[in-house]
Amino acid sequence: MPSMESTTILLVEANQPVRSDIEWLLRQEGYSVTTAETGQEAWDILEKEEESFDLLLASVSIKDLDGLALLEFTLAQSPSTPVILLSDDSSAERALDGLSRGAYDHLVVPCETRELQATVRRGLEKRHLVRELKLRADIDPLTGLANRAVFERRLEDEFYKAIRYGNPLSLLFVDIDKFKSVNDEHGHLVGDVYLKALSELMTANVRSVDLVARYGGEEIVLLLPHTTATAANRLAERMRELVESFVVSHGDISIQRTISIGIASHPGVPVKEPEDFILVADAAMYAAKQAGRNRVVVGRTVPGREKDER
Ligand code: GH3
Ligand code: MG
Ligand code: MG
Repeated sequence: MPSMESTTILLVEANQPVRSDIEWLLRQEGYSVTTAETGQEAWDILEKEEESFDLLLASVSIKDLDGLALLEFTLAQSPSTPVILLSDDSSAERALDGLSRGAYDHLVVPCETRELQATVRRGLEKRHLVRELKLRADIDPLTGLANRAVFERRLEDEFYKAIRYGNPLSLLFVDIDKFKSVNDEHGHLVGDVYLKALSELMTANVRSVDLVARYGGEEIVLLLPHTTATAANRLAERMRELVESFVVSHGDISIQRTISIGIASHPGVPVKEPEDFILVADAAMYAAKQAGRNRVVVGRTVPGREKDER
């Protein structure tokens, strides 16, 4: 992934002296630059590149696939990547057309060094800002977990994939036992510290394809693609045991809690839509509470639909 130290720029320009000048200037600025002489060459690079570029500089004067075609491709693949169109005097009109189609800016080349530097810097700042905002919109600030909106989108996605391809899918609904007493005894801040530490513990103990998200206050959901009810039950038991012996210290206060977990799995329960997964797992979690807490319950029916299933 491109870091601040290795900002990656793709430069597409057929005019050799112009291309070399711009490439040299960008390298002086510390950017990592890839160049292409033709549109097709650029297209091939964009298609095989696993990580997208941070910024594109693309000429609209190229004969084959010009900057406008590359702009369209980039907007579809990676909409936060700014595209700066390059033109000469004769093709400036075409570049202006590109601005209304979503290009970030336009430069008539050759241009002043400072103009190029400033335009590229502004473009990169915009990309950084867009990424930052997107990250903030997806992440719960207290726990650092994905938020509920991300979970619901991913659940929908995984649910239909599981149904279509016949893959198993499981959901764990986790609720901390008697968490209110932590706040009551030690204050909200200590409760927050525990919640954050628990989130890290769970994240560290699942696969990278699994999603750990904060569903609500002290409720955490784990979405487990390609996981059967049996495997989900095993993981839930392991989590339950891990949490039971997990001690979080804050100053001279030590917090130790247990969790109750409800499981919903496909195949296993006749789920018809993504929301059914939540209903089943939530009800199973509630049953775990009723049965005495610090336990795992596998959901067998969709609440409210028991009659249809008889
Ligand atoms: P049980 O689930 O075992 O029935 O008991 P509980 O005490 O956990 O359940 P209850 O629903 O009564 O209380 C949930 C508590 O979680 C109350 C609320 O203050 C606390 N909580 C929810 N979100 C946060 C948070 O972000 N930070 C802190 N510190 N506490 C939170
Ligand atoms: Mg709760
Ligand atoms: Mg609770």
